[in-house]
This record gives sequence, C-alpha cells and structure tokens, in this order.
Amino acid sequence: MKTIVLGSGIIGTTTAYFLAKAGHEVHVIERQPEAAMETSFGNGGVLHTSEVEPWSRPGMPRAVLSWIGKEDAPMLLRLGALPSMWQWGLDFIRNCSLERYRRAAAVNLRLANHTLSLMPAVRAETQFPYDLMQNGTLKVYTRREAFDTNVAESERQRGEGLVFEAVDARRCVEIEPALAPIRDTLAGGIYAPLDEHGDCHKFAVGLRKHCSDKLGVTFHFNTEIRRIVRSGDRITGVETNKGSMNGDAYIAALASYAPALLRPLGVRVSIYPAKGVTVTVPDTAWPDGPKVPIIDDTRLFGLIRLGNRYRCSGSVEFNGWDTTPSESRAQAIVNNVISVFPEFAKCYDKASAKVWAGLRPMPSSGNPYVGATPVKNLYLNCGHGHLGWTLACGSSQLVADVVSGKQPAIDMTGLTLATHQ
Ligand SMILES: Cc1cc2nc3c(=O)[nH]c(=O)nc-3n(C[C@H](O)[C@H](O)[C@H](O)COP(=O)(O)OP(=O)(O)OC[C@H]3O[C@@H](n4cnc5c(N)ncnc54)[C@H](O)[C@@H]3O)c2cc1C
Repeated sequence: MKTIVLGSGIIGTTTAYFLAKAGHEVHVIERQPEAAMETSFGNGGVLHTSEVEPWSRPGMPRAVLSWIGKEDAPMLLRLGALPSMWQWGLDFIRNCSLERYRRAAAVNLRLANHTLSLMPAVRAETQFPYDLMQNGTLKVYTRREAFDTNVAESERQRGEGLVFEAVDARRCVEIEPALAPIRDTLAGGIYAPLDEHGDCHKFAVGLRKHCSDKLGVTFHFNTEIRRIVRSGDRITGVETNKGSMNGDAYIAALASYAPALLRPLGVRVSIYPAKGVTVTVPDTAWPDGPKVPIIDDTRLFGLIRLGNRYRCSGSVEFNGWDTTPSESRAQAIVNNVISVFPEFAKCYDKASAKVWAGLRPMPSSGNPYVGATPVKNLYLNCGHGHLGWTLACGSSQLVADVVSGKQPAIDMTGLTLATHQ
C-alpha cells in the first residue's frame, strides 16, 4: 500500500517510521530541506507524563483577557490575532469546564504513557544519539496553595496511570542539588521519575535517516503542498510546487497548517498556533546546574540540560502564524530563570544565546486529532499542542494501526475526529 505522509515534523517522521514498520510503501512530503525544521526544531525537549493537562482549564479565559497588553504575561493574546482565531477561541472557552479539562488530561496521559512504552524498542532498533536523559522531571512550587492543588490533581491522575512523588523542599534538593540555594522558598515539588528528555530535532533527523537508509521511506523535501484533492469520498492526490503525487492513503501531519489544507475537503480541526520561545546556551560556565529538568510552575518556565547545553522554555503568544521570536518574551524567560538560578547568568550571553520560536499546534480541546476522517483514505495526526514530542511515537503508532486496518494498540476515545470533545 502506497501511503503518503504530509509534513515531516516529529509527528510526520514518526508516522513514516511506524507505517514503514507495518509494511507500507511510504512517501513523505515536506516543504523544508530536512525533517523537524519548524516547531519540532527547538522545543523544550521533555517527554512529560507530568505535564499532560490541557491549557483549556477553568479560569483560563478570564486570565487570558486580564493579560492582554502585558508583554511579560505567561500567555499573551495579541489583538491583531483575533480575526483569525475567534472560532478556535469559542471552542477553547467551551472546553474550559473542569469535566472537559480532566477528560482531556486523561486522554493525553494515556497517549503519553503509550509513547514511553514504545521508546525503548525504537531506541534499541535505531541506536542514534539524541542527548537522551532518563532522570524524570521535577515541577517546583513556591506557593503552598498551588502545590496542594496540583498534588490533589496528580493524585487523581495516579488512578489514570501517572507515576509521581509529591515531595517536600528537602527531597526536591535531594533529587536536584542545584535547588539547594532556593530550598527555603520552595513549598514542594512533583517528581515524575519516568519522564525523559532529549533533543527532538536530533531524534527526528536520526529517525528520518533510519527510515531512508533502512526502511525504504522516500522523503520529498523542499516540496510545498498546495492542495489536497478530493473526489467523492476519497483523496485522489496532492498538488505540490513540484507537481502532483498520489497514493492509496494520506496522513495529514501538518500541525498549525492542517486546518487551512483540510477545510476545503470538508474536514474541520480546531487548531491554532500558540507561539513559544526557547533560549539555548552552552553549559560550560555553570557545570553544576540542574541535570533533572525543572519546571517552575509559579514563574512558568522550564530549564533542561540537553547534552552540553541548557535550554529554557516558556511563553505563549497568540499572534497568528508569525514565527519571529520576540526579544521581550525571550528576555522575560531568561529573567525568570535567573531569578531562581542566579548562576544561569554566567552562561547567558545575549549576543550568542540561541533564541528560537515555534508554533505549538494548539487544539482547542487539549487533545490531538489521531486517526480516521469521513474521507475514506485520509487520516489525521495533528494538533499535538505543547505535547508533540511527548505524544509523537504513541500517536504515530496508533495511526499506523488504523491505516493498516489493525485494532489500535490502546483505546483511542477522545483522539479520533469522531470522539473529539
Ligand atoms: C517553546 C516550545 C516548547 C515546547 N516544549 C515541548 C516539550 O518540552 N515537550 C513536548 O512534548 N512538546 C513540546 N513542544 C511542542 C512540540 O514542539 C510540538 O507539539 C511538536 O513539535 C509538533 O510537531 P508537528 O510535527 O506536529 O509539527 P511541526 O514540527 O511543525 O511539523 C509540521 C511539518 O509540516 C510541514 N508543512 C506544513 N505545511 C506544509 C505544506 N503546505 N507543505 C509541505 N510541508 C508543510 C512543516 O514544514 C513542518 O515540518 C514545545 C513547543 C514549543 C513551541
């Protein structure tokens, strides 16, 4: 069966891998010259079962409105984006009930755990380096109330498969000694020992090479998809800047660009780009910094060690499809990191730090779209929001099951277009 994957971010690349393993003849169409050059290039790097909650949560719409115009707000809505996002915004507000929030978190957790269960076999087969570390993640809290609320929510998720430890300040420092100087400010932490991290871009490129060299996948780079062609209840081809391509089945792994290409086919997905920023610096000037990824749930940043670099991430900005990193947003992240870890300043040189921005393909429900559509040979694997690296192998393996006509490896309720909330 000739199967065409549209897009080669982390999602399209892992989709190609699992399809090839299932025996498909796989072609991948990608506008960039290599895999994972857009959102999957410089992300936060963590596969975190401990961060699966959707952003659509009770109280969020009011908070976002109160942050309008505040350059250093954790989530910044630019007014110019409103005309292109009102429909998504209404969907997002509808999903902010406690019931929907919890349901979406449970769906993501199921899928994140599926990814973690698949990673060892992928690594054993492919054997390329990608700065992998398997030492969990530690979310830290300075406010007692926020800590207690999050521990209660995590306790509830324990029944749904979350493995975690609620820890006091002393144990936070035991897990990550770099926290010692701020021990007295910590109300506590949530440690997820099974979480792992690594460079998503390196992983995608390694997997792309493995797919090309060992599994016979053909990557068509520098190829822009202009239109997906539907005839009756089937897709008959894809028009690109290099001519038409056709196959038996098509998988849309087009992230924030999926809605525009799917809408003319009568397939509606509620995804909008949420820009985020990372800042990457060499770790040489601060060798004793954290080795366990730290997620500061009060100041809303992540700090991880990727090989011999530190990467800090954070910031959400709704500003359409613009990928320019905002200097003020990057500086706000750095300031937050330095306020907790003053020694980070030793590594940070504004002129040489690598500042990057990417567009999280944010689904209004908090869950990605995975699997079949009403168009018989069109399948979805898009809208992974802030969790694309965490969910990639799980959702791609499921898509390969569905396209191959196999019983999916895990329950797909909440992921398919038909069951999406
Ligand atoms: C600041 C930041 C931090 C993050 N941190 C984490 C984290 O720690 N852990 C985690 O799990 N996730 C994280 N994420 C989210 C994660 O990066 C995304 O969910 C993931 O990269 C999405 O992958 P994708 O393949 O769907 O999208 P992409 O990587 O954007 O891939 C889509 C591909 O489709 C191609 N494409 C689009 N339109 C066309 C067209 N018309 N023709 C041809 N090709 C096309 C694009 O070129 C692109 O390569 C973070 C994101 C950001 C921005």
